[in-house]
Amino acid sequence: MPKINLLGYTRSQLEELLVSLGQKPYKGRQLFAWLYKVRQYDFSLMTDLTKDIRRQLDESYNFELPKFEQESTSVDGTVKFLFRLSDGNPIETVLIPDGERTTVCISVQAGCALGCRFCATGTMGLLRDLTVGEIVGQLLALRERFGADAFTNIVMMGMGEPLNNFDNVMEAIKIINDENGLGLAAKKITISTSGITPKIRKLADMKLKVRLALSLHAATQEKRRKIMPVADTFGLEKLMEALKYYTTRTKSRVSIEYILFKGFNDRPEDIKALTRLLHGIPCKINMLAYNPVPGLDFERPSDEEVDRFARLLYPKLPAVTVRKSRGRDIDAACGQLAVRKINKGVNV
Ligand code: SF4
Repeated sequence: MPKINLLGYTRSQLEELLVSLGQKPYKGRQLFAWLYKVRQYDFSLMTDLTKDIRRQLDESYNFELPKFEQESTSVDGTVKFLFRLSDGNPIETVLIPDGERTTVCISVQAGCALGCRFCATGTMGLLRDLTVGEIVGQLLALRERFGADAFTNIVMMGMGEPLNNFDNVMEAIKIINDENGLGLAAKKITISTSGITPKIRKLADMKLKVRLALSLHAATQEKRRKIMPVADTFGLEKLMEALKYYTTRTKSRVSIEYILFKGFNDRPEDIKALTRLLHGIPCKINMLAYNPVPGLDFERPSDEEVDRFARLLYPKLPAVTVRKSRGRDIDAACGQLAVRKINKGVNV
């Protein structure tokens, strides 16, 4: 019998498991802390569990992390990892050091169904949702490699749409948040969505303290649907209503991600449209120049053009930040490495 991988089991699932083995629930909580906090994966060394339980666990269970397959380091310190999942699907994880802070950008799906026109992952289609274990496993693998300080913040901005893998993402967040899990505060976690309106409302009702980012990229419905097919299902008007609902319900502001594509969304009329659209929504805007993806039909504006756009926008909206593109020399834009692997026939 192949062993069952406990990676991704929540605290309550481990409690249930230990109860099924004739133990008290608190033994499950101890096991949870060994696995996620202490990162001890050898059951025989879990000294506060009885020898008999350790033996039973060892016979039927293991705790296996996703395997690093490839990594590339940018001149700016950004490191991109390709993990190979147990079924052969590739996913990407990116570590972005920035002074005191190191952000890890994780994947939540293999591929993505939403097909944004500017995104390498979007060309893959959806291969499948990641399990809770595969989401958390990216983080644990990095801590195994670089220690407990491997990252200070998490953004779910890698491959896939987090709100389309809602239940697994929420379970993963529970493990990440738990002081006996990965022990990272909710406010250090950002969920980035392309605008799945009903799920934004659902998230608002859960009143988690996680941060929400919206990948907007165009300020009119007409323009947005040209680059993000998701806008055909969830139109901009309803999306903005959901965003207002979110900010009111959670008493927080959202981040608006706006990638600048040369000649497409960087014109004076876009400034007017953005100002109109975001009026009254507590938000900050993060601008970023597009990281070109070979084969896709978008160009990167110059740094001066980005700065000019941000300067014109700034007085009209509460907070505008221009983010530096990171890892341009290592295909750090979402999905590029995985798409290459698949195109080379490694995965199919
Ligand atoms: S940008 Fe995000 S939502 Fe859009 S296709 Fe890529 S991974 Fe999916």
